Amino acid sequence: MAQEYDYLFKTIVVGDGGVGKTALTIRFSKGIFTEDYKMTIGVDFHVKTISIEIDEGLITCKLQVWDTGGEERFGSIRPMYYQGSLGAILVFDLTNYASFEHLLKWIEEVRTNIKFEIPLLLVGNKSDLPDQRAISMEEINQFAKDFNLYYIETSAKTGKRVDDCFYVLTCLMAGLDIAEIKLRL
Ligand code: GDP
Ligand code: MG
Repeated sequence: MAQEYDYLFKTIVVGDGGVGKTALTIRFSKGIFTEDYKMTIGVDFHVKTISIEIDEGLITCKLQVWDTGGEERFGSIRPMYYQGSLGAILVFDLTNYASFEHLLKWIEEVRTNIKFEIPLLLVGNKSDLPDQRAISMEEINQFAKDFNLYYIETSAKTGKRVDDCFYVLTCLMAGLDIAEIKLRL
C-alpha cells in the first residue's frame, strides 16, 4: 500500500502554562476553540497532515504535535516528550510579560533535551487582545533576531495565523528555504 505521506514530523509545543499551547494545538488539529477543555495533564498528541506546494509538486507532511502541561509535574515524562522531536513551537502570551521573559528558559530546556539543532518557531499568542498587549514589537523583534528565530503572532481564539505557524515550522523541518516560504504566505 502506498504511504499516504512523504514525511512524518514530531513537533513539540513548549512555553509557560496558560499561554495557549493546548488551544493552538486544538485549533490547528481540529479547527476549533473551546474555553472549557481541561488543563493538559501529562502529554497528549494530535495528528494532522498538511501539504506544502513546491515547484516540483506537493509534499505531504504528517505532523504529530505533542502538547504538554508546562508545570513541574511534567518532569518525569520529559525525556519521552522530547525524544525524536524534529521541531518546536515556542509559545508566549502577548498579554503576559513573564511568559516572554521565560522564553530563554524554554530554549535552554529544548537544547538540553535535544542534542542536535532543530528548527524553533517563536509564537506570540492571543493577538486578539490588543488592548492587553504587554510586550512591544521592538522587544520581540530583538529577541527573535538574537536567537535567530522566525516569529509569528497568532490567535488560537480567532484562528488567525495558526495554520501559518504550523506551516512555517513544517517547511523548516522539511529543510525548505524560509525566504521562499515567506513569499507563499
Ligand atoms: P496552555 O496552558 O499553554 O495549554 O494554555 P491553554 O491552551 O489551556 O489556554 C489558557 C487560557 O488562555 C484558556 O483560558 C484559553 O481559553 C485562553 N486562550 C488560549 N489561546 C487564546 C487566544 O488566542 N486568545 C484568547 N483571548 N484566549 C486564549
Ligand atoms: Mg495545555
